[in-house]
Amino acid sequence: MSASSNFDANHATFRNQNLIGGQWKDAVSGKTIAVENPATEGIITHVPQGVQEDIDEAVRVARTTFQSPAWRKIRPIDRGRILENIARKVEENADELAYLESLDAGKAIEFAKVIDLPSTVDVFRYMGGWCSKLGGTTPPISFDGREYHAYTRREPIGVVGAISPWNYPLALGSWKIASALAAGCTVVLKPSELTPLSTLRLAELCLEAGLPEGALNIVNGYGHEAGQALARHPDVDKITFTGSTVVGKKIVEYALGNMKRVTLELGGKSPGIVFADADLDQAGLGAALAVFFNSGQVCFAASRLFVQASVYDQVVEAVSAAAGQFKVGNGLDPDTMLGPLVSRRQQERVMDYVQSGIEQGARLVSGGKTLGEKGYFMQPTIFADVDPSMRIAQEEIFGPVISIIPFKDEAEVIHMANDTSYGLAANIWTRDIKKAHRVAHRLQAGSVWINCHGVIDPAAPFGGFKQSGWGREISEEGLLAYTETKTVCALL
Ligand code: NAD
Repeated sequence: MSASSNFDANHATFRNQNLIGGQWKDAVSGKTIAVENPATEGIITHVPQGVQEDIDEAVRVARTTFQSPAWRKIRPIDRGRILENIARKVEENADELAYLESLDAGKAIEFAKVIDLPSTVDVFRYMGGWCSKLGGTTPPISFDGREYHAYTRREPIGVVGAISPWNYPLALGSWKIASALAAGCTVVLKPSELTPLSTLRLAELCLEAGLPEGALNIVNGYGHEAGQALARHPDVDKITFTGSTVVGKKIVEYALGNMKRVTLELGGKSPGIVFADADLDQAGLGAALAVFFNSGQVCFAASRLFVQASVYDQVVEAVSAAAGQFKVGNGLDPDTMLGPLVSRRQQERVMDYVQSGIEQGARLVSGGKTLGEKGYFMQPTIFADVDPSMRIAQEEIFGPVISIIPFKDEAEVIHMANDTSYGLAANIWTRDIKKAHRVAHRLQAGSVWINCHGVIDPAAPFGGFKQSGWGREISEEGLLAYTETKTVCALL
C-alpha cells in the first residue's frame, strides 16, 4: 500500500457524532456512550446514543437520496470512480485509521496496517470496478406460439441498514458500504458501540472522496436501541448484519415486518485439521496463528484443532511453542502481536470458558490467566485432551483459547469437525493434495483453507453454512445480494 499521510498520534482528533445527510449531529436524546481504550481502560471520547428518532431521520435521508434524480443519474462508471477515490483516501490516511482501529478495538497496530487497511482499500477498489459491469441477461422466450424479447436488469435494492461488530470494525463495515454503494443503494450504518471511531473517520473520508451527502449515514448507539430500530424499520429494504448468532436470530425476527432482504455473517467454531503427513512446523505455527490472531476475536478463528493421534504430542508442543512467542501488550506498541480483549465483559466471558474447560477435565497446557493491572489482557490458552462434547469445544469463545482433540482417521475427523451448529470456515494441513480436496469437499464450511488460514480477498465469497449465517459477502455473489432482478418482457 502506498505511504500514508503525516499523521501524528499525539494530535489525533476524533469524529464523535452521527453523520446524517452530510451533517455531523448529536443524538436526539442528547445522551452519549463512552468509548473505552481496552488497553488502558481510559475513556477516549463519547459518541451519541442514537435511538429510534435518529434512525428515523437517517432512513428518511437515505430514502430521499436514493430516490433523488441526482443519485440515480450518476453514471455507473462515475459511481465506480467515487469508490476508487474512497480507496485512495483510505490509503492516504492508513496510519490514522490503523491507529483508531488499535485505540478502541485494542488490536495490534502493525497487523491493522497490513491486514485491516489493505482489506478495506481492496474492497472499495474491487466493488468500484463492478459498478459499470452489473449487466443482465437476455433469456430466449417464446410463449403460446408467440415470440418475445426479454431481458433482465439488476436494480439496487434501495435503502440498506448495516450493523457491524467490534472485531474488524473498519474492514467489515467497508464490505457492507462498498457493496451497497456499488449496487446503487444508499446506506444507514450502525457501528458497534464499542468501536465506532474508524467507521466515523471513514465516513468523513467518503464525503471528501465525493460521495454525495445522504448516500452513507452513520448512527451510533446500542444494539438493542439503534440497532433494533434499524433492523425493524419499515422503510429499510435490506439489513446486512455481522455479529453473534444470538443477535442474528433476532435480526431475522425484526426483518419480518416488511420482509427485508437479510444477509447475516455470524459466529463460528471453526475446525483446524492436522494430518500426520503435514509439515508439522508449518502446521503448528499456522494452527496457533489461526486461533490466536487478534487475540482470538475472529469469526473464523480455528478454535478446535483436530490432530492425528500419531503426531498429537508433537503438534501440541509446536502450537504451544508458537504461542509462547506471541507478545501480548498494548496494540499501539509496534512489537505487540496480541492486544487486549475488547472489554471487561469479553474478558470475563472468556475466563469463564477457561474455568469451564478446567472443571470439565480438559488438560490446561499453557496460559489461562489474565495479564496486567489495567486493560483486558489475556494469555494465549491451550487446552489438550479435550472431549468434543465439552463447552470449550462446542461454543464460540471469541478469545485466545484453543481446544486440541486427537483423531484416528479421515472419516472420524470429518464427522467431528462437522459436529457443530456452526459452519463458517476450516483449515486442513497435509502434504497429500488429493486427501486435502477430498476432506475440503466433505466439510460443512463456507471457506476451507488448505495449508493456510484466513486468506480473504474481495473476489472470493465469504460466509457461513448452518448457523454461521445467511448468504455471502464480498465477491460478485455478495454484490448481487444488494440488487433485485427484474425481468422485462415485450411481445414482438
Ligand atoms: P454482537 O452480536 O453482540 O453485536 C454486533 C452488532 O450488533 C453490534 O453493532 C451491536 O450493537 C449490534 N446489536 C446487538 N444487539 C442488537 C439487537 N438486539 N438488535 C440489533 N443490533 C444489535 O456481536 P459482537 O460482540 O459485536 O461481535 C462478535 C460476534 O460477531 C461473534 O459471534 C463473531 O463470530 C461474529 N462475527 C462474525 C463475522 C462473520 O463474518 N461471520 C465477522 C466478525 C464477527
